[in-house]
Amino acid sequence: MVYLNGKTLPAGEARISPFDHGLLFGDGVFETVRAYGGAVFQSDAHFRRLVRSARMVDIPLPFDAAGWSDILHRVLAANGVTDALLRLTVTRGAGTPRMGKPEGPPTVLAFLRPSPQGEPVEWERGITAALVDVRTRSGATLDPGIKSLSFMSNVLAIRQAWERGADEAILLNGRGFVAEGSVSNLFGVWDGGVVTPPEGDILPGVTRAVVLDLARSAGLSVAEKPIAAGRLGAAQELFVTGTGWEVMPVTHLDGAAVGDGRPGPITRSLYAAFCRRVATLHEDQPAA
Ligand code: PLP
Repeated sequence: MVYLNGKTLPAGEARISPFDHGLLFGDGVFETVRAYGGAVFQSDAHFRRLVRSARMVDIPLPFDAAGWSDILHRVLAANGVTDALLRLTVTRGAGTPRMGKPEGPPTVLAFLRPSPQGEPVEWERGITAALVDVRTRSGATLDPGIKSLSFMSNVLAIRQAWERGADEAILLNGRGFVAEGSVSNLFGVWDGGVVTPPEGDILPGVTRAVVLDLARSAGLSVAEKPIAAGRLGAAQELFVTGTGWEVMPVTHLDGAAVGDGRPGPITRSLYAAFCRRVATLHEDQPAA
């Protein structure tokens, strides 16, 4: 079951116009959130990022914070699930194929897929990453902080990573510094301190913000600063964060082991802290 423009209906019956600007021009914004036990993790932070993305590209969001929450919970309820990744897309709308000027109102589409399964095994093994040739956008082209539908660089990046047998791509920015993954933010550990690339070159991940907070609360040395690509090979630990990956160790980069090739102690402690944070979700937010 999906949500489309005010209605919950079977995916096979959902009809989107051939002239929708999301389809024609990648003209829209989106968010992916995760529900645990019926409650959406960091719902307010995701909504704030969606509001910012929409404002930056001048798409009027046709719902407020309560509407946002209502749509997500309607999709969960319609599918009878409590644990899922939910994606909500807002396009500029349909009505005329003239770029930038649809006549219709924004299109709102939301659907879910079950949360990734088998995580404990994958987490222990960690994922592999490849440093790809595709570069991220810079603020001079399109602010990478906007979660827009124009996702072609990320698509090309992950395809290149897969070609090289890796699970995730690491992209550099236009100046040759490490930026982020195709669907994740990257963290590394050097000399026992946690470092992640600064905002401005990346999509500021909601999970990244939580992990930064957890790392600071744990008294770790934390820095948001540029990372030269050449330093990645010397990292004691690498991990990615994201709504889907949560906190996932990167145990191999371009075929070489990171550290001893197993999830490191800081990654382990931050993942444990992240799981504890998720567990508190039901203390401060009522389940659907
Ligand atoms: N960076 C990019 C390019 C992404 O697409 C995503 C998530 O989709 C992230 C980072 C992680 O963001 P979040 O933690 O909000 O899921």
